[in-house]
Amino acid sequence: MNEFDVVIVGGGAAGLSAALVLSRARRRVLVVDSGSQRNSPAAHMHGYLSRDGLPPAKLLAIARQEVTGYGADVLDGEVTDLVACGKSRFQALLSDGRRIATRRLLVATGLRDELPDIPGLANRWARDVLHCPYCHGYEVRDRQLGVLGGALDAVRYAQIVRQWAKDVVLFVPAKSLTNVHRSELVARSIGVIEGDVRRIVVEDDHLSGVEMDDGTVIPRDALFVPPKFIANNSLLVGLGCELDQEGWAVRDSNGRTTVPGVWIAGNVANPRAQVITAAGEGSAAAMAINADLVEEDIRKAVRDFNRGF
Ligand SMILES: Cc1cc2nc3c(=O)[nH]c(=O)nc-3n(C[C@H](O)[C@H](O)[C@H](O)COP(=O)(O)OP(=O)(O)OC[C@H]3O[C@@H](n4cnc5c(N)ncnc54)[C@H](O)[C@@H]3O)c2cc1C
Repeated sequence: MNEFDVVIVGGGAAGLSAALVLSRARRRVLVVDSGSQRNSPAAHMHGYLSRDGLPPAKLLAIARQEVTGYGADVLDGEVTDLVACGKSRFQALLSDGRRIATRRLLVATGLRDELPDIPGLANRWARDVLHCPYCHGYEVRDRQLGVLGGALDAVRYAQIVRQWAKDVVLFVPAKSLTNVHRSELVARSIGVIEGDVRRIVVEDDHLSGVEMDDGTVIPRDALFVPPKFIANNSLLVGLGCELDQEGWAVRDSNGRTTVPGVWIAGNVANPRAQVITAAGEGSAAAMAINADLVEEDIRKAVRDFNRGF
């Protein structure tokens, strides 16, 4: 069985950025990717210096071309399990039954966005139901915007969305606001609608409003919804990586987990990472992995030298 220096699970921005650095460092690299990058439903990607407005799929196509140009292998597939074999050696098991041996692992499997169960919401995801004003706020600037409350910090989120438009309405469950929240919202002219949302109203394939339980429809052009982030970390759990209280894998500043030989980067480690941040984390992890491999190479070279090889 051929052994790779590094198997990277996940070929989004984090994984491919790591692959670029490692393949340029002349490491044998395999990226395995199951093809569901988190921002793939969005038509355009924003906020990535020099790539602003590029379709997400285009960024990935360019990245794949770059990494394969330096000799990395990229495989479309799913890793179903990662198994430790001795000291700092691993096998990746693929859904087609293949087993791949590797010296180090980088898990860059991203996260899943769990949306509130409101009729019509999921169908509009990444179109006019948005998760992040830094990604898509500019595109809906000065429109009638809504923020779906209920989640932790939704009030602060509404205050941030207010940066992009004067007409912002926060939808919150009844009696959930404190007096301080209310006065802060009023002070910045953010409307508040209290009650339960019944459904999202869509006309001519555009979001047109938010219907409340009493039948009132509040006209809106776009709705910001803070999703619940679920890390795709089952492979890390299987390897025995330590998780923090919120379920995120514990790591150092370069993405090294508590299991020797295993690194993480991007949204699987950091729910706040934008594409450019995920790419940066992948790059930092790649350099740390290469340094770790160099340490092992030195130990082996000294052993061989002393044996007279
Ligand atoms: C709707 C939407 C729009 C967004 N727009 C922007 C934007 O405009 N600008 C911006 O900067 N950020 C945006 N983001 C955030 C952006 O999606 C993330 O920052 C970015 O995707 C993180 O990259 P990543 O590599 O960590 O994860 P991902 O891009 O999600 O990549 C993870 C990859 O791992 C693969 N994978 C998972 N499990 C396995 C497995 N077991 N085996 C093999 N492969 C596996 C997945 O299929 C996926 O391809 C948006 C997010 C959403 C939800």
